[in-house]
Amino acid sequence: MASNVEKGLIVSFGEMLIDFVPTESGVSLADSPGFLKAPGGAPANVAIAVTRLGGRAAFVGKLGDDEFGHMLAGILRENGVEDKGINFDKGARTALAFVTLRSDGDREFMFYRNPSADMLLRPDELNLELIRSAKVFHYGSISLITEPCRSAHLKAMEVAKEAGALLSYDPNLREPLWSSPEEARTQIMSIWDKAEIIKVSDVELEFLTQNKMIDDESAMSLWHPNLKLLLVTLGEKGCRYYTKDFHGAVEAFNVNAVDTTGAGDSFIGAFLSQIVDDQSILEEEERLRKVLRFSNACGAITTTKKGAIPALPSDSEALCFLEDK
Ligand code: ADP
Repeated sequence: MASNVEKGLIVSFGEMLIDFVPTESGVSLADSPGFLKAPGGAPANVAIAVTRLGGRAAFVGKLGDDEFGHMLAGILRENGVEDKGINFDKGARTALAFVTLRSDGDREFMFYRNPSADMLLRPDELNLELIRSAKVFHYGSISLITEPCRSAHLKAMEVAKEAGALLSYDPNLREPLWSSPEEARTQIMSIWDKAEIIKVSDVELEFLTQNKMIDDESAMSLWHPNLKLLLVTLGEKGCRYYTKDFHGAVEAFNVNAVDTTGAGDSFIGAFLSQIVDDQSILEEEERLRKVLRFSNACGAITTTKKGAIPALPSDSEALCFLEDK
């Protein structure tokens, strides 16, 4: 077994924020009597998903130079995530999102980003040395919404790519943050052909293709020549995978899901942690299926506890879960 120090570094770029979750479920934000704070932001969740499983990860992004920003950086450090890529903004606050599940099942979001610190990351603030040391560079699309963060995102991607990193993209659509659905689609697709691994959910597939059918044809309409692997996650139905030579599906595990927040981040974090040091897995279907089974297990475990970060499994938890199956 390679020791932790020898493992390849996964650098996750983007936002980290605080989700405020109502103490009472099934009520609107306005009617909620109180809120609990839960650290979130998909790229930060992915970094922690990797370190929980024994991998090496760094987070690159910007937080407010305030109590919440330092609290979030502390959570990354406590989880063993490298913090040399974190900047603090003196003028803007750490982003907040109030999230609730209404009784009709719809999620309601209210964001405090006017602007928040993550949106203000500048290209000249990037720790290029850290980014160049990445074996895998992972990102979403929220960092594409506004300048100067958009330029920082594009530069970080370019530097990582030039240094030989594998680019991994999980768009993580948050429609209310964009000025219009068309703008979201255009910007998400503007960096599509750079990534070598792309993970979308069924909802994102439908949004991007504008096609209600979730099938191989609609997934393959998103294929591009630089892509090594396209993953489509399907919640309790597991995932599908597409490469230039083969495609298929891997079933999910049957669990008692209580909160699916972070399932997709856990899934892709687990996946990247398994392929970072051996990318030949992407070309060998049987080995790829095994890694996807592990990723599905990590996604499933994450749904069994409330919140994203507290529910991300350790290596031994994931292996125990799989042994029982
Ligand atoms: P996202 O959070 O990006 O929308 P999904 O909800 O599709 O992603 O979840 C990612 C993965 O987590 C799925 O592919 C699946 O393996 C696992 N997962 C999610 N929800 C469940 C569930 N209810 N039961 C079992 N596994 C789940």
